[in-house]
Amino acid sequence: MFDFIIIGGGILGMSTAMQLAERFPDRKLLLLEKEDGPARHQSGHNSGVIHAGVYYTPGSLKARFCLEGNRATKAFCNAHDIPFDECGKLLVATNELEMRRMGALWERTAANGLEREWLDSEALREREPNIKGLGAIFVPSTGIVDYARVTQAMADECERRGAQLSFGHRVKAIDERYGEVVVKTSQGDFSGRYLISCAGLMADRVVKMLGRDPGFTICPFRGEYYRLPEQHNHIVNHLIYPIPDPGMPFLGVHLTRMIDGSVTVGPNAVLALKREGYRKTDVSLSDMARMFTNPGILKALTSHLKPGLTEMRNSLFKSGYLEQVRKYCPSLTLEDLGDYPAGVRAQAVGRDGRLVDDFLFVNTRRTVNVCNAPSPAATSAIPIGGHIVAKVAEQVEW
Ligand SMILES: Cc1cc2nc3c(=O)[nH]c(=O)nc-3n(C[C@H](O)[C@H](O)[C@H](O)COP(=O)(O)OP(=O)(O)OC[C@H]3O[C@@H](n4cnc5c(N)ncnc54)[C@H](O)[C@@H]3O)c2cc1C
Repeated sequence: MFDFIIIGGGILGMSTAMQLAERFPDRKLLLLEKEDGPARHQSGHNSGVIHAGVYYTPGSLKARFCLEGNRATKAFCNAHDIPFDECGKLLVATNELEMRRMGALWERTAANGLEREWLDSEALREREPNIKGLGAIFVPSTGIVDYARVTQAMADECERRGAQLSFGHRVKAIDERYGEVVVKTSQGDFSGRYLISCAGLMADRVVKMLGRDPGFTICPFRGEYYRLPEQHNHIVNHLIYPIPDPGMPFLGVHLTRMIDGSVTVGPNAVLALKREGYRKTDVSLSDMARMFTNPGILKALTSHLKPGLTEMRNSLFKSGYLEQVRKYCPSLTLEDLGDYPAGVRAQAVGRDGRLVDDFLFVNTRRTVNVCNAPSPAATSAIPIGGHIVAKVAEQVEW
């Protein structure tokens, strides 16, 4: 019998396992992951940004954990010799509407306790000669890192602390009983006193395995990127983001310097027709049937129909995608958009069709389930793990 079983070898599962092993060094811990190694899904397919916490509602878990996570991620990288670059980020306004929205973001960054600087078009040109805009907010604490590498370092730390990591173990059923939780996997059954699920794109399915109605469904949104050719590796000095529509802050492709020295453009947000569908051609009839008969998802798709169709069009036609980035980086051409692997976001959608905004956890007597952990959850992984450990410590009765 294990004391703790964790589902999911992404950054949240690993961070939680690492901190549980530290808090309860004499307890037996097992992590189950269906893939053959850590960070095979969202944690290994993202923009690699250590977010500062610009957009999030003041007082939300996202705002709090992102701010804490920004510092904690950099400290973890320093302690484990993982390269990161505190290159800073510019939020660039390209028209009068965006200038007004920039004013509101300026207030929000103050409420979220961020250091920042207001740049007029002249100051913007000095910092970024290839970027055109009426003004920008500069946020110096934003950084870049390889989250797959961070997750691997957490996995090594887990093993050093005596945790058992079992890859290639797909969880198929869960039975929460009095005094224990039995987890049935593709490689046999395991029993534990407590279960923590960090299953990302499968979060709702794990809650259903517990016999609970999760009250939300995971909607998979593919984020497609392009990589610029090597001669553009120095086209920008910082990360360049557009000023978002406050109603849809996750839309708007950005220019991202990656930790390997390359620069990517993206990601967009296109409905994926398969939960783990990384290519446009990936389709699962059963995932689609479940998605298109789900009232919450149908409401969400209807109420975001126009931006949804625009994202789809720009996904199919590179020229539409290019136009978005040319608004602030006019020198880029179609030939500059080279292939780069996509990621798929796990976004929880409520029954009312609303996209769940904040991080969401659902607890039962012997389980804690991470149910909504989109961006900036990689940045926030250490405080989220700490939050879960504190919840478990409150609940625990051996
Ligand atoms: C395109 C994109 C860009 C992003 N950019 C950023 C960014 O720049 N900065 C940032 O902070 N965040 C970013 N994010 C968000 C961030 O990547 C995620 O929030 C974070 O990785 C979530 O981690 P996780 O451990 O919850 O999920 P995952 O990494 O998806 O891990 C979940 C794991 O659970 C496993 N699993 C699921 N079901 C089962 C089962 N039945 N049995 C066993 N194992 C199972 C899966 O195989 C998977 O490995 C981005 C995300 C995407 C998709």
